[in-house]
Amino acid sequence: MKCCLAIDIGGTKIASALITGKIIEQRQQIRTPQDEAASGMRQALADIIQQQQGMFDSVAVASTGIINKGILTALNPKNLGGLAEFPLLDTIAEYTAAPIGLLNDVQAAAYAEYHLLTKKVENFVFITVSTGVGGGIILNGKLQIGPNGIAGHIGHTLADPNGPICGCGRQGCVEAIAAGRAIEAAAAKWDDPCEPAEVFARFRQGVPQAVEVVQRSARAIANLIADLVIANDIQRVVLGGSVGLAEGYLPLVNRYLQQLPHFYQTAVVPAACGSDAGLLGAALWWQNELAIKQKNRKNFNKR
Ligand SMILES: [Zn+2]
Repeated sequence: MKCCLAIDIGGTKIASALITGKIIEQRQQIRTPQDEAASGMRQALADIIQQQQGMFDSVAVASTGIINKGILTALNPKNLGGLAEFPLLDTIAEYTAAPIGLLNDVQAAAYAEYHLLTKKVENFVFITVSTGVGGGIILNGKLQIGPNGIAGHIGHTLADPNGPICGCGRQGCVEAIAAGRAIEAAAAKWDDPCEPAEVFARFRQGVPQAVEVVQRSARAIANLIADLVIANDIQRVVLGGSVGLAEGYLPLVNRYLQQLPHFYQTAVVPAACGSDAGLLGAALWWQNELAIKQKNRKNFNKR
């Protein structure tokens, strides 16, 4: 069976593993280089690939940010240790001749969550509510990436035209209202300020200020889900991330969703993949893409 070297590049850590089928082996993790980010990233990738040389047939990378034609860019460069643009594809190709597949980390996580569904559906969305809000969309069983790699950045759809300015530069994005960073900013202004984890503890105790902030976030996510359902006939939504999976959050999202007319509603369930979703999703997606390419080549040769 083919083995894939999967690499997950995040804002704070780079994880890697050898993946055969759905089996994850030799998982390793290092800190994302923050100083001299470009040369640090190059060295980190070289080390990972050279360490596993000869063990894999393909390389799949899930990365935070947008991957457009092999170049990694960030909506907010701060998220990637100051790395505004990085030639991800060319850099990896310097160290291996294996076929390389690249996609956004939330797109990858969406693919992994989709593959773990017990009931298969055609149209599916994964939403992660964490420091930011990200997403991955699957339509007719196919992961949507887009010609510019942007598909699924649903955290940057509009929640409130009068809302706060988002990190992307637009006013009132879902992320600016619902994300952990937004909850943190709201809580920092309180007379009794606290960290996001404590906001959720206070929310569960029924402290009005905390309830209001969490409700605002959950309502924005419920409306986002409603918009996606009505636009794309989404049959299933998986919710993940530290905020999305915080105790009491998902029932709140479901409650707001159920207050809407029935055609906006869909099943929303918690994410199942955990922290390996990016690695697993990237590997599964790339191995599937390679299999399709091989099949198409065979069909072409038959003609
Ligand atoms: Zn935005």
